[in-house]
Amino acid sequence: MPRVSSEMTALFRPLALEGVSRHLNGMHVNTLILGAGAAGLHCAAFSGPDTLVVDHAKAPAEKIRISGGGRCNFTNLGTTPANFISQNLHFAKSALARYTQWDFIDLVDRHNIAWHEKTLGQLFCDETAKDIIAMLLSEMAPTAELWLQTEVGNIRHDGTHYQVALKRHGQVTLVQAVNLVVATGGKSIPKMGATGLAYQIAEQFGLAITDTRPALVPFTFSDDRFKPIAGTATPARVITADGTAFDESLLFTHRGLSGPAVLQASSYWHMGEDVRVALAPDFDIEAALKIQRAQDGRKAVSTALAVHLPARLVDFLGDELDLTGNVGDLADARIADLATSLQNWSLKPSGTEGYRTAEVTVGGVDTNGLSSKTMQSKTTPHLYFIGEAVDVTGWLGGYNFQWAWSSGYAAGVAIAMGAP
Ligand SMILES: Cc1cc2nc3c(=O)[nH]c(=O)nc-3n(C[C@H](O)[C@H](O)[C@H](O)COP(=O)(O)OP(=O)(O)OC[C@H]3O[C@@H](n4cnc5c(N)ncnc54)[C@H](O)[C@@H]3O)c2cc1C
Repeated sequence: MPRVSSEMTALFRPLALEGVSRHLNGMHVNTLILGAGAAGLHCAAFSGPDTLVVDHAKAPAEKIRISGGGRCNFTNLGTTPANFISQNLHFAKSALARYTQWDFIDLVDRHNIAWHEKTLGQLFCDETAKDIIAMLLSEMAPTAELWLQTEVGNIRHDGTHYQVALKRHGQVTLVQAVNLVVATGGKSIPKMGATGLAYQIAEQFGLAITDTRPALVPFTFSDDRFKPIAGTATPARVITADGTAFDESLLFTHRGLSGPAVLQASSYWHMGEDVRVALAPDFDIEAALKIQRAQDGRKAVSTALAVHLPARLVDFLGDELDLTGNVGDLADARIADLATSLQNWSLKPSGTEGYRTAEVTVGGVDTNGLSSKTMQSKTTPHLYFIGEAVDVTGWLGGYNFQWAWSSGYAAGVAIAMGAP
């Protein structure tokens, strides 16, 4: 059964169709897309004539605008289905194969938007993320209209058409559409307009929702134990309970742990689980300390470790691990213990920063109810779910936008080709 919280139900405040008919303007479109974010705008470029895109925000694609520090990490050169989390790991394959990172790079190139690879295949705009938004708007302009500050109300299907009540400039319009595309995203960052409306609509049309939780989000610790070293970053491997490991930077914060390695791990973490951290993951600390002991045992243990780790972190760890004395005083067993403490450090986060700062939502509309080729509901014709609303979540590094482009394309093309 679908799981939709009462909080979400409260967020969805339908505009009743009854009682407004005297003020109602009617309108007919072929395709109505709810949500002018990454997936909705890209879908509109392919869905063919007579498309209307609506969004309750003042501006389209606000998440693109702020993404990647304002430069938008718009895809990843190494995108494969393995970079995505879903209850059905096969679901994303078809859409990702039919609209790839190379297709999006082509589009960006055709619009003369300069880009660069920052790290690990992550592509960013040279100038500004606004270039991507302008590109998407110009791609859809020939066939689609955009309505902003538009509230979505009651949705019905009368057997042939969707009827959606939309409130704009104080006026309610009843829009009839052959195709309805839900591209309203997930629950992350409510301040930026996230509402979870997609789950509400999915529930209305009998589709299940998998468990949802904030992802790509910092861990918190109730005792604020890392406050003294907040701001310190170091390379680390962060390993979750299911053995998934990410080698990237780890950042200590006032409230806990952040940095790319931690954000990635958070997508695989469940409340109550431990994570293991290997500091200086590419380095054999046990061997290094033994060599140091053989060459110059008079060196302080903390000084020897500070060659491989930030000095502030070594100072901080000194309280917990007793790093007093010289390397020459350490027995083999003590060296092995130290190496284990530093490279198999077990930590239990008390939680995460939650949807307030999470970059994405793990989980969403259950893919069992959708066609992997078209994103169309298997049970309700002409109803599509795309982007973050669907139970497909990418790693950090441009993968989530690639899913928005690929799933938006899949639905858009299916509509243009008159999918049954
Ligand atoms: C701070 C931040 C940085 C990020 N950086 C990156 C990055 O660099 N690379 C990357 O790949 N991913 C990044 N992401 C993730 C990425 O932004 C999302 O995965 C992507 O935007 C999802 O696209 P979408 O179109 O499905 O949803 P969204 O982009 O969230 O669009 C949904 C749209 O629906 C509208 N909407 C929601 N509810 C309603 C409603 N009730 N009525 C009307 N309209 C509604 C919203 O206003 C919004 O415009 C980042 C996310 C955040 C929060």
